[in-house]
Amino acid sequence: MLDYDLHCHSTVSDGLLSPTELVARAAERGVKVLALTDHDDLDGLAEARVAAEQYGIQLINGVEISVSWRSHTVHVVGLHIDPAYPPLVEGVAGVRRGRGERAQKMADSLAASGIGGVLEGAYRYATNPGMIGRTHFARYLVESGRCKDVKSVFKNYLVKGKPGYVAHQWGALDEVIGWIRGSGGVAVLAHPGRYVSGKKPMGRPTLLELLGEFIELGGQGIEVVCGSHTPAQYAEFGRYARELGLLASCGSDFHGPGESYRDLGRLPDLPLDCRPVWAAWETVPGAGMPRAAIA
Ligand code: AMP
Ligand code: MN
Ligand code: MN
Ligand code: MN
Repeated sequence: MLDYDLHCHSTVSDGLLSPTELVARAAERGVKVLALTDHDDLDGLAEARVAAEQYGIQLINGVEISVSWRSHTVHVVGLHIDPAYPPLVEGVAGVRRGRGERAQKMADSLAASGIGGVLEGAYRYATNPGMIGRTHFARYLVESGRCKDVKSVFKNYLVKGKPGYVAHQWGALDEVIGWIRGSGGVAVLAHPGRYVSGKKPMGRPTLLELLGEFIELGGQGIEVVCGSHTPAQYAEFGRYARELGLLASCGSDFHGPGESYRDLGRLPDLPLDCRPVWAAWETVPGAGMPRAAIA
């Protein structure tokens, strides 16, 4: 079991726990180094830092940025970023900006298929209204009895080809990597096993093209062990990391009790011969990592 959990969400994006509650839960579950990686928003980090000091764990400043690459949406996690770096702050604000309009379009599209009142309902779940997203719609549609759980809402309403899906333009891959790297952070391709082309998983040739561009643009890491990967995918993406010279990351992608694939903490070890992403932090000046926490 690893003591690192480098991907999770708080109420600042689409998680169910406040940054403080999240840190407390992580500490309770044995996490020693936690990265808070809210979607397109850095505002939870200050609160999480105070809580991390209180609970005696190491907080890594993180973010998960939404990217449009070709016709795909992909996510890039920034680890050890500087949340005060102006291009990053302005960059994520720009990525967030379209969310309100997109939410309106999603609600209009659902209304056109006979499901009304969803916008108001979804906003009730968006603790940070600027960060309204599909998860908030999903929670409301569960509450209103449309589906039994969040996962089935996604399957039936919120993905390509379904009534609540609206295509959206997120950040550009080169810019997003630039903001992360410029702030001193490490750019990590999140959950490569989750990407889709229409209804099918993104094929390996496309994923390799994505990784090729990602690396060329300064991307340095890939999530190998993550909440939504199978053990076979740990091995597969571990091999990608080794062959492409990428750092390997691990994170639960926890959003809330009972809602996520995995709870905070409990992650299997990275495959052998993977260079863990935290090895890179040794070289980040002023990163403040205690030596004992560096593998
Ligand atoms: P958005 O950025 O608004 O498009 O929302 C993306 C978020 O929706 C992801 O970060 C997940 O939290 C959630 N999500 C995406 N697909 C699924 C799914 N199939 N089941 C449950 N949650 C999902
Ligand atoms: Mn999410
Ligand atoms: Mn993601
Ligand atoms: Mn995530």
